[in-house]
Amino acid sequence: MASVQSAGEAVARIAYLSSDTIISVQASLSKDSEFSSSLRQYAGNKASSLVCKDVPDVQSVRHNTDPLLSVFKPVRHGRLTSVTTSSSILVRSIPHLYKLAQYPVVIHVSLLPTGYPDYGDITSIRNTGFTFLHSNSLQEAQDLALTAHALAIRSGKGVIHFFDAANSNNDQPITHESRELVLSVLNADLVRQHQATRSEETTLYVSEGKGASSTLGRELGDGNAESGIDTSPTRGTHDDTRDPSTASSSSSDRRNSSSAESAAESATTISTEPKPVSSEDIYYICSSIWSQIRTTTGRSYSAFHYTGPPNAEAALFLFGSDPGLFSQEFDDASSSDFYSRVGLITPTLYRPWLTERLVESLPKSVKKIAVLEQIRRKTTKWGPLLLDLLMSVKSSSEFEKAPLIVGYQLGFIEYSTITQALSGIFQNLSSASPIQNLEVGSHDGPTTSLARSQKDFDLSQPALENAYMKILDQIFGERLYIANALKASNTGVSSTISSSPEYGFGSLVARKQHRRRFVGEVQSAVKGREFITEIPQKWLSQWALVADKAEEANKAAPEVIARLSTDGSPAASALLRSKGLFFSESQWLVGSDAWSYDIGNSGVHHVIASGENVNMLIIDSTPYSDRAAQDAARRKKDIGLYAMNYGNAYVASVAVYSSYTQVLQAMIEAEAYDGPSVVMAYLPYNKENDNPLTVLQETKKAVDLGYWPLYRWDPKAEEKGEECFKLDSERIKQELQKFLERDNHMSQLMKRHPEFHANLSESYGSEVRQVQKRKAKDAYEALLEGLQGAPMTILFASDNGNAENLAKRLGSRGKARGLKTMVMAMDDYPIEDLGNEENLVCIAATAGQGEFPQNGRNFWDGVKNSTDLDLANVKFTVFALGDSHYWPRKEDKHYYNKPGKDLFTRLTDLGGKEIVGIGLGDDQEPDGYQTGYSEWEPKLWDALGLGNIEGIPDEPPPITNEDIKIGSNFLRGTIVEGLNDPSTGAISAADQQLTKFHGTYMQDDRDLRDERKAQGLEPAYAFMIRCRLSAGVATPDQWIQMDAISTNLGNETIKLTTRQTFQFHGVVKGKLKPAMQAINQALMTTIAACGDVNRNVMCSSLPEQSELHGEAHAAAKRISDHLLPSTNAYHEIWLQDENDKKTQVAGDAVQDFEPLYGPTYLPRKFKITIAVPPHNDTDVYAHDIGLIAIKGEDGKLQGFNVLAGGGMGATHNMKKTYPQIGRMLGYCDKDNIHIACEKIMLVQKDNGDRKNRKQARLKYTIDRMGLDVFRSNVEELWGQTFSEPKPFHFDSNIDTFGWLKDERGMNHFTMFIENGRVEDTADFPMKTGLREIAKVHKGEFRLTGNQHLVLSNVADEDLDAMKDLLKKHKLDNTNFSGLRLSSSACVAFPTCGLAMAESERYLPELITKLEGVIEESGMRQDSIVMRMTGCPNGCARPWLAEVAFVGKAFGAYNMYLGGGYHGNRLNKLYRSSIKEEEILEIMKPLLKRYALERNEGERFGDFVIRIGMIKATRDGRDFHDDTAEVESDDEA
Ligand code: SF4
Repeated sequence: MASVQSAGEAVARIAYLSSDTIISVQASLSKDSEFSSSLRQYAGNKASSLVCKDVPDVQSVRHNTDPLLSVFKPVRHGRLTSVTTSSSILVRSIPHLYKLAQYPVVIHVSLLPTGYPDYGDITSIRNTGFTFLHSNSLQEAQDLALTAHALAIRSGKGVIHFFDAANSNNDQPITHESRELVLSVLNADLVRQHQATRSEETTLYVSEGKGASSTLGRELGDGNAESGIDTSPTRGTHDDTRDPSTASSSSSDRRNSSSAESAAESATTISTEPKPVSSEDIYYICSSIWSQIRTTTGRSYSAFHYTGPPNAEAALFLFGSDPGLFSQEFDDASSSDFYSRVGLITPTLYRPWLTERLVESLPKSVKKIAVLEQIRRKTTKWGPLLLDLLMSVKSSSEFEKAPLIVGYQLGFIEYSTITQALSGIFQNLSSASPIQNLEVGSHDGPTTSLARSQKDFDLSQPALENAYMKILDQIFGERLYIANALKASNTGVSSTISSSPEYGFGSLVARKQHRRRFVGEVQSAVKGREFITEIPQKWLSQWALVADKAEEANKAAPEVIARLSTDGSPAASALLRSKGLFFSESQWLVGSDAWSYDIGNSGVHHVIASGENVNMLIIDSTPYSDRAAQDAARRKKDIGLYAMNYGNAYVASVAVYSSYTQVLQAMIEAEAYDGPSVVMAYLPYNKENDNPLTVLQETKKAVDLGYWPLYRWDPKAEEKGEECFKLDSERIKQELQKFLERDNHMSQLMKRHPEFHANLSESYGSEVRQVQKRKAKDAYEALLEGLQGAPMTILFASDNGNAENLAKRLGSRGKARGLKTMVMAMDDYPIEDLGNEENLVCIAATAGQGEFPQNGRNFWDGVKNSTDLDLANVKFTVFALGDSHYWPRKEDKHYYNKPGKDLFTRLTDLGGKEIVGIGLGDDQEPDGYQTGYSEWEPKLWDALGLGNIEGIPDEPPPITNEDIKIGSNFLRGTIVEGLNDPSTGAISAADQQLTKFHGTYMQDDRDLRDERKAQGLEPAYAFMIRCRLSAGVATPDQWIQMDAISTNLGNETIKLTTRQTFQFHGVVKGKLKPAMQAINQALMTTIAACGDVNRNVMCSSLPEQSELHGEAHAAAKRISDHLLPSTNAYHEIWLQDENDKKTQVAGDAVQDFEPLYGPTYLPRKFKITIAVPPHNDTDVYAHDIGLIAIKGEDGKLQGFNVLAGGGMGATHNMKKTYPQIGRMLGYCDKDNIHIACEKIMLVQKDNGDRKNRKQARLKYTIDRMGLDVFRSNVEELWGQTFSEPKPFHFDSNIDTFGWLKDERGMNHFTMFIENGRVEDTADFPMKTGLREIAKVHKGEFRLTGNQHLVLSNVADEDLDAMKDLLKKHKLDNTNFSGLRLSSSACVAFPTCGLAMAESERYLPELITKLEGVIEESGMRQDSIVMRMTGCPNGCARPWLAEVAFVGKAFGAYNMYLGGGYHGNRLNKLYRSSIKEEEILEIMKPLLKRYALERNEGERFGDFVIRIGMIKATRDGRDFHDDTAEVESDDEA
C-alpha cells in the first residue's frame, strides 16, 4: 500500500483530492515547497480528484506576489479552492483573510522556520474569521487536512490548517487515507452545491473590524438559538451528531444570498453577510467528521487534546512545537521531578476557541496551568493564549476555584534541554508568587539545518533579473548603491521587510541626510580654517559647491581626498574618516512586480509622494502570454502610469530583451533627474530558470502589441522646450493612450510618428479579428450578389503560396464556368457560416510535422472541436498538398497530407456530402503536386456537371519571376509607390522580388506572427538589408556608421554574414530609405547584395599574409565591380530625395541598359569567392565560382585555379535538388580573372533553367551540360582557354583565432563573434566594445567567411592600448572549445521567412550541452566543424560541415555526417527529423568514441566514414544515395 513520508505530502494529497483549484505558494517557482512537488506530480499525471470533474487546476504563485489574490476568482466561480503555503505570507495577507474567511477556502500552512516556528504568525490572524486546526504529527496532518476540507465544505467558511513539519520528521510512514473515506467525509451533495454557486462579488476587502467582530460575536455562541441547531454537548458519536451543514440552511443558500446582497454593497459596508455559523456549529461539524474518521480508522480527535493522569494537579498548555517531546518527558518523570503527575494539553481546534470544550478536557483536579506560547514577536504584555485560558477558566463554573494560570515565553527546546526547561517551568509554577512571562529555552533557536526552510523562503534575486543589475553596474559602477539589496545584511530584519520600498526608502533618506550633514561639516571646516595648510581649504570649498552634482563631485572627490591625506590636521583626519561621502552615489531601490499589487504598492506611493531624489527600478516578470489569464483580482497596478499621473516623477518603461540602448538611456536619465524616478523594467518569465529565448519571445510580443510599450516620460522636459513623452516602441496600450490624450501629449506623438497613427494604440481582444472576418465575407458576398450561378466557396490553407495559387486559379476557372466563386484563406472565413455553404472546396497544404499551415490553424481547430456544426446541406471536397518522402521514417509517414486528410474525414463526420473524393498532390511526382491536381480537378467539374463547357476563355499564364524582372523596367517595379504607402508595413509581392536586387528582403517577425494574427493585425513586417562589401574589408569609420544604422534604424544588432558582409534586421518600411542612404554615406552600397545577379565577392581574410590579402582583395573588388548591374533604379529609388529629379529615369524617354545582364538578369543567384591556400575559410567549393589563389615564385598573387558549379541550396527529400561542390575548369592568370568570371556567368545566363527556379543554379546547368561542354562554351565566349590547374593545398576551413603578426610586422587579432551576431547584452556589451575600438583603431576590420571578425593592421606601438581595450570589453576572449570556435549557424528565426527551425539562437545552446562530453574526452581544443541552418537553403553552408543540422520543423532537424574538414567533401543524411534529445543521444557517445578510436590526426568527418557510420558523398549527385536512414516508399 502506498505510504506517505511527510506532512507536506500527506496534506498535498488530501488537498488535491478535495479541491477544484489549488494555489501552490512557493518561495520561487524554480524551487519546490514541501507541498508543490507532490501537487505537480499529481497534476502532471492528470490524477483524478474526488470533487473535480476534470483534473484540478494547480496554480503556482510566488510568495511575494500577493498570493491570496489568486483565490478570489476560483472561489467566486464555485470552485473548491485550497492554498498550500508557508506561514510567511499570513500576516501580510490579513486584508484578504477577512474576506476569504467567508468562503469555503482551506489554507494549509506549514509554519516557519521549521523546527522552531513563530506561532505569532497564527495568533496574529486568529480573529480573521477562519476556523483554525492544528496538527502535530504525520497522521494528524493527514486527518486534520481532511477535516479542514470537510469542515470548509460543510460550514461554508474558511479553514486554516497549520502545522510544524519538523514535528513529524521522525514519524513512521503512514498509509494513504482511503479515497472512500475521503469521499464520504467530504459530503458529495454539498460539494455539488458549492460548485453550482457563483458569487457576483468583486471587492476584495471587508471593512476593517466589522467583519471580524461580527464573526467573533458568533464565535461566542450567540448564533445557536437563531440557527436552531441542537447544541447539546452530550452527543458524541457519528450517528447521533447532528451536522448543521445538512440542516435546512445549506451553504449554497448562503452563497446565493450573499450574491444577491452584493449588488447593494458599498465600499464601506460588509459586502457579504453570511448566515450565522456559530462556534458550536463548527464544533459539531468537527465532531461529526471526527466521528466518521474514528468509525473507519479508530483514531479519535477532540477540540483540545489532554494527556496525563486524570487527577493531575498541574497541567501544561502548549502552543508550540513538539508536544511529543513534552509528553515523553512527563511519562518518564520520576516522583521527585517537579513535573511528575502533570498533564499536557494542546489545542486541535484553536479557533473558534471553545471554553466549554477546554474545561471539559481538563481534569477538575488541576490547580495550576503553565501556558507555553512559542511567539517570537510579543506585542502585548500577556500572550494571546494566556488570555484565552484566563477567560475560559475564570468564566467557568466547573472549577471550585479557578486554577492559577502562569504564562511562559517558549524558546527552542530539544531533547538535551527539555528536563532543565520543565524543571524551571514547574519550579516557577509551584512557587508562592510565580513570575509571569518567564522565557524558557533558547530564544535564538536551533543553529542546525532545522532553520533551513526559513532561508528557502527568504527572498532571493532570480538569476534572470541580474540582467538589469548588471546594466546598473555597468553605468554607475562604484557609485551604485542599492538600498534594499537582498545581499545586504540587516541585523534582525527579514529579507521580506528589507526588500520593501518603505524600508529601502527609509534607509536612503537616512543616507542622504548623513551626506547632507557631511557637506555641512565640510563647509564649517572650510570656514573655521581648521587645516594646517591652505590647500585643503581651496579644494574643499570647490568640492562643496558641486557636492550635489554627481558628475562634478565624483570628479573632484579623489583630488580632495588626496589633498586632505597630506594635511595631517585633526579636521582633515575627521573628514577622511567618512571619505566615501565625498562621492555622490547613484541611489536605487530595486523591486519586483510584487510592488505592483495592492500591498506592495502603498510603499511605492510613499516614495513617489515624498518627492525625494530617489531612483526606483521595478522589474516586472509577468509573461505576455499569461496576462490574459490573470484574473481581475490579481490585476496589477500600472506603477508607470500611476507615477506619471502623480506628476513629479521621471518614468520610463524599458525591456532589456527589446532595446538595450533604451534601457541605458532610461537609467542615465532617471539618475540625472532631480526627483523621484521610476524605471519599469520588463523581464517576463514563468520560472526563474527559464530559457532566455522564451524571455526574448515573450518580450517581443509584449512590446510589439503595446502591452509593454517602451517610453520615457520627463515631466520637466517642457521647461527645456522638449517633449515630455518619448515613445521608443511602436504601439501603446489604451490606458497610456488615455493618459496622453488627457495631457495633450498624444497629438504631439501623432505628429512625430504619423506612420503609427493607425495602429498606435493596442486594442486587446480577438473580437477585432472576428469583425474583420465578418466584414471580409460580407463584402465578398455583396460582390457576388449580382452574379448568376451556383455558389462555390474555396478555402485554402497555404504554407508557401502553392495552395493559395491553386485556390485562386480554381476560383477563376469556376467563374469562367458560371459559378459564384469565393476564395478565402481558411482563417479568414467565419466558421459559423460553414453549414450554409452549398459547394465547399478546401485546398490544404502540409506544414511542419503534418500540421495545418498558419492561415488554416484556427479554422481547423474550430472544425475539429465544434459540437454544433451541421454540414448536412453542404457538398464538399478537399485537395491536399504534401510530400510523400518528406518523412523518411516509416512511423512518420502518416504526416503526408495529414491536414487535408484529417479535414476530409472531419467534414464527412459533420454530415457533409462528398462532391468528389479527396485529391492528393505529391511533390515527389514528376510535376510535383500538379500531377495529382490535374487528375482531380476535371473530376470536380464533372461531378458539378461542368465538365464539358465550350468557349471557356484561355487563362493567363501564372506570373513568374522572369515576368516580374521583364516588367520591372530594370528593377523599378512599383517600389517607390510601395514605400510611400503608409497603410501597410509591406510592399507588393512583385516588388518583394525586385527589392532583393537592391539588397533588401521583406520579412516578418515570426515570433510575433500568431499573436498579431490573433489581434487582427498584419504581420510585423520589417526589412533585412544586406550590404555589399568586397572581401569583407571595412574601415573603422564604416564600422561606426554601421553600428549607428543598426541602433537608429534597425533592431540594434548587426549580423556579420557567412558572405563577409553586414546585414541589418528589423528595419521597418519607413526607415528603409534613410538606412539605404546612411549606408551610401558610409561609402558602401547594397545593390546586388541579393537577387538574380552576382553578389558580394568573398576572399580569405588572411591575417598573416597582408600583402597577398591586399592583392586578393583587389581582385575580388575588380570582379565585383565588373559584374555590378548598371541600372539607375537603385540611385533613383533610394538615394535621390524628392527635389532631386534631374537624373530620374523612370517614365523618361531615356531607358536603362544592362550590358551584361539584359532585362531578365540571371536565372538565379550567383556567388563568387576567393580562397587563399592553405586556408579554405571562404568554402571555395560551395560557390558558383570558386577561385583558388595561386602564388607565384615571387610570393605575389599570380592567378587562380577556377572552380565552377558549387552551390548549397536544396529541398528536403526532393532528390532532383542537391548541394554540389565546384568542379575544376582550370587555371587563369589574375589580370584576366574578372573576364573569365564574366564569361562563366554569361554561359549560365543563357543556359540556366529559367522555367524551374529549383533547377536554375549553375550547378544544375553544369551537371546537365556536362563539365567539358560547359567549359568549352565558356572558352568559346571568352576567346581564351583555361590552363592546367596549378597544385595547391588546403588544411582547414575555419578561422585562426587570436593575435598574429604578418610579414610586414603588423598585428591582427581574430576575435570570436558567435554566429556573427554583434549585439549588446547585459553580460557582454560587445557592440559597445567594438564601437569604442573602432573609434581609435587605425587599421581596418576584416569580416571572415565564418562570421567572425579580424581587427586588422595594428601597429606595434598601438598594440598594448588595443589589447587593453579588447580586454576591457571582454573581446579578447578566444578561450572557447574547439567545437564552438568551428561552429556556424544561419539567422533563421525570427526573421528568415524560410526558416523551419531555430538556428542562430539554438546552436550555441546545443554546443553548451555537448561541451561536457568534449571536456571529459579531452577534446576541448579539437576542432570539429559543426554547422546548423534553419532550412535546406544552406546559408551557413551546412552540407560541407563534418556534422550538420538542418531544420525540418520547429525543434526537429535532419542530421548530416561526413563532410570534409577542409570543406572539400559534402556530408550525407544520417538521421531525419530528430529532436534535441536524440541529437544528444547520438552525439555524446559518438564524440567519446571519436576521442578513443580516432587515428593520429584523423578528422571527425573522416572518422565517421571510416567506422562505417556513413558513406562518403563524392559528388552532389550521389548526395541522396546510400543515406544512413533508408527511405521507405510504403505509405502508412
Ligand atoms: S538557411 Fe534557410 S533558414 Fe537559414 S537563413 Fe538561409 S534561408 Fe533562412
